[in-house]
Amino acid sequence: MGFLKMGKHPIDKFRIKGNKFWKTKPDACPYCGFTDISGVEILGAYDGDLMWECGNCGEFLLRFTQKTTIKHLQKVEELHFNLDDWETIWQGLPN
Ligand SMILES: [Zn+2]
Repeated sequence: MGFLKMGKHPIDKFRIKGNKFWKTKPDACPYCGFTDISGVEILGAYDGDLMWECGNCGEFLLRFTQKTTIKHLQKVEELHFNLDDWETIWQGLPN
């Protein structure tokens, strides 16, 4: 691996609910209300935080739209997950 700078979560474990996104770090997790949200940086994809992660429930929150997020992720050469699966996951969940 090596291109990930996000600790315990391998990129293929991402599960993003819905298509809401937060341009700035959310004050609290929309799912559990926890206030310790951290930025998730993916080297090679975007210079800065690409998404947010709740420190309690571990849910990922988008910083950009799904389309933009995927566009950034496609810059990563060593993709360890299938982008089609992501779309399936997103489409399968209520907004
Ligand atoms: Zn949470």
